[in-house]
Amino acid sequence: MKTKVWSVDKNVDNLQSYPQITESAGLLKADQVVAFPTETVYGLGANAKSDEAVKKVFEAKGRPSDNPLIVHIASEGQLEDIVEDIPEQARRLMAEFWPGPLTLILRRKPGKLSNFVTAGLDTVAVRMPDHQVALGIIRASDLPIAAPSANTSGKPSPTSAKHVEDDLLGRIAGIVDGGTTGVGVESTVLDCTVEVPIILRPGGVTLEQLKAVIGAVQQDVALKNQDTAPKAPGMKYTHYAPKAPLYLVKGQPAFLQRLVDEKRRDGLKVGIITALEHEAEYIADYVVVPGSLAQLHTVAAGLYDALRQFDELDVDIIFSESFPESGIGAAVMNRLEKAAGHQIIDEKHV
Ligand code: AMP
Ligand code: MG
Repeated sequence: MKTKVWSVDKNVDNLQSYPQITESAGLLKADQVVAFPTETVYGLGANAKSDEAVKKVFEAKGRPSDNPLIVHIASEGQLEDIVEDIPEQARRLMAEFWPGPLTLILRRKPGKLSNFVTAGLDTVAVRMPDHQVALGIIRASDLPIAAPSANTSGKPSPTSAKHVEDDLLGRIAGIVDGGTTGVGVESTVLDCTVEVPIILRPGGVTLEQLKAVIGAVQQDVALKNQDTAPKAPGMKYTHYAPKAPLYLVKGQPAFLQRLVDEKRRDGLKVGIITALEHEAEYIADYVVVPGSLAQLHTVAAGLYDALRQFDELDVDIIFSESFPESGIGAAVMNRLEKAAGHQIIDEKHV
């Protein structure tokens, strides 16, 4: 399949009449799949009402069919059409964080969406992206758009059109290039079908921000406990992994450097992921810096590109520093733990 690529300036409002947007939306209306930028990562969009379109998303990504997709909307009217019983707390969160990186799990109205979107569940994940290109495409298509991250399943999510091309060129109908995304990690997934909402996946809107609006918020225990099944089907799968084995290190830079030295003595090529503040303390074959501790959101924004860079480098093993788990750091650490397949080396335990 030939993949058509368009470029758009994400800083322009009301893009829905631009030819790049009307053409890509036209493909969505014709049940083709098209990748486009959001404020979190690039999404792989499809008409959420069409079985045929949604099946193409699962095929292109190689995504397991029991892992439901997030439906992206551009107006409250689109929400009312697909869900019922919107709890008061969900309404307050929407008022505060939409458009934005917060996905709400709500009860779906029967018969409004393809069953493949929700993997047969009676709930649906919905969000309104805070990105002019994404909003323009949804408005121009006049459809709810199912859009998981536009990567091959298991790989780090794409934060640039190049990442999407690396994974999906020739496998999808189109890619809308709107430059690099902002937040860099996916949306927070919050189950609002229970009295005290539960974070199923940490993301762009933090626990602290949610608590400030609705008070009590729970976190899925499976996020920290490997023996419990996660409530979000997708959270059980390996994800975000570079090709070389990755170890997440808890400890001082001197400890991490000793681990690196050992491997290099064995003749291995070693990569490090570190915060800007510690970069000068390391000697390794490759030192990659996603961002700075002083501005943790820069680590989130650069994380997936850092993980992807190692796939193009001649590296046998990667060690990553740990980051503080407050604010957006919770999402960063969740992704690093998954990327490392939960292989964690703690200085306190060696
Ligand atoms: P992605 O589309 O790759 O950003 O992943 C979406 C995440 O939301 C996955 O972890 C899904 O399993 C989760 N998810 C989507 N729909 C639901 C739902 N109805 N109930 C629980 N989790 C969901
Ligand atoms: Mg994904």
